[in-house]
Amino acid sequence: MCGILGFIGKKPVAERLISGSDRLQNRGEHSTGAATYDGNFFYSHLGLGPAALVFNDYPYGNLKGNAGIAHTRYATTGGDSPEKLQRNIQPVYADRPGMFTCANGDLINMLSQTERLKEMGFSFQTELDSKVLQNLMIHYMHENKLHCAKEPEDYVNRIFKSLEDLHKDLQGAYSVVTLMETGLLVFKDPHGIRPLSMAKRMENGEIMEYAFSSESAVFNYFSDYSEIEELKPGEALFIEHNTLKMHRRQITPMQEAFCFFEFIYFSRPDTKFKDRVVENARKNMGGVLAEEFASMRNRIDVVVGIPATGLSAAHNFGQILNIPYENAIIKVGNKRSFQETSDEKRRKAIDNKFIFIKDFIEGKRLAVIDDSNVRGTTAKKIARRLYDLGAKEVHYFFFSPPIIGSCYYGIDTPDESKLIAVGNSNEEIRRIMQVDSVNYISHQGLIRGLGIPKEELCLACITKKYPTPVDEIYKRLELRKKERGCGIC
Ligand code: SF4
Repeated sequence: MCGILGFIGKKPVAERLISGSDRLQNRGEHSTGAATYDGNFFYSHLGLGPAALVFNDYPYGNLKGNAGIAHTRYATTGGDSPEKLQRNIQPVYADRPGMFTCANGDLINMLSQTERLKEMGFSFQTELDSKVLQNLMIHYMHENKLHCAKEPEDYVNRIFKSLEDLHKDLQGAYSVVTLMETGLLVFKDPHGIRPLSMAKRMENGEIMEYAFSSESAVFNYFSDYSEIEELKPGEALFIEHNTLKMHRRQITPMQEAFCFFEFIYFSRPDTKFKDRVVENARKNMGGVLAEEFASMRNRIDVVVGIPATGLSAAHNFGQILNIPYENAIIKVGNKRSFQETSDEKRRKAIDNKFIFIKDFIEGKRLAVIDDSNVRGTTAKKIARRLYDLGAKEVHYFFFSPPIIGSCYYGIDTPDESKLIAVGNSNEEIRRIMQVDSVNYISHQGLIRGLGIPKEELCLACITKKYPTPVDEIYKRLELRKKERGCGIC
């Protein structure tokens, strides 16, 4: 999972790119990079770590130009040693035609497409899906003779035709921003699995800038954007430099499959997808949990939320069942435990992540509200701490149904053998986690809480019904195993 940004307008974009990257750190902080174009040259600055580190004391003026893209990376491919992270920083550059590209999402058939492109003479100095996307785009731009286009309309038609060809070759999830010498190109995969929204900045009725972001929270931060909208499945936009003329087409529309997990865990609380504020969706889910488990009311003294995603769900749960809520677990720092790539690092991250308030815990029967239970590592560890601090009973409630399938679309859930809900009943999960009860929201409850028709969502990790073919995924899983030097994790 990663964050992407794109800006094209009538004023320099460097400051917005850098501040925007900082706002998308929740989507990955292994590396951060940005590239701009000033009408003559490209400029870029890339480094390991979050935006605050990479752009610390960096003079904004070095990233010249009124158009640019940026990327915050969570490494799902290529390994996580400093050397491997270094060679996989985005955006990636290519010439003929000159462009910087960055993407969010994973390609299921990345390896076969890489082999095919290598046979055509393309070079790969990275292990990134973005490089496959970029090389494939370039291949089709040549095939469609982009360089022969005489008129802007003809030029854009050739770009869109190239993307149509690319859509046919690729399986998987991809939201992409590409900065070219002619303009900014933005597109989504045919199912629109990963998010990407657009906004406008107007001045005196005139368009000043188009902005694109994985999450609309970036637009809220700057507070001068309007007309925020999510790109449609298979949609592409090309915006010309200087004139800001926009060309827009839904190239290969298929049934939408927007990742439901963006609402549950990944996205910032102040982001809006499909007209729903993420935090509000989480709050609703707490309400649904309360309705579904109202019979547990007399077994609970206090409701506790796991920060930060579980808090408003926990408040609502407590309010509906009329049970006191306590801030018994407080988060310190911004680290998300999923961003660690080994179980050991994940356990340490949990220890460093929370403060527990004993007075709210001791002698109490607790309802602990959390977003999801993937490996069971976090929940078990937290439950242990609660018992150690004197909790009388711990009842866990999750507002995602059991995770029974790996995500192949850019979310780093582990191999199925490491998913706690695979092959285990609720009672077995309860025993593994050593808690008093484990309670999951139902599938219908999830859909009701989100308020989005299930047909528009990817629910593959809770249903195992993947929206794209997944027949080549075993190759990627083998690769990941090799890259991490472990059992598939
Ligand atoms: Fe999201 Fe799950 Fe689909 Fe992955 S498999 S895109 S996490 S809903």
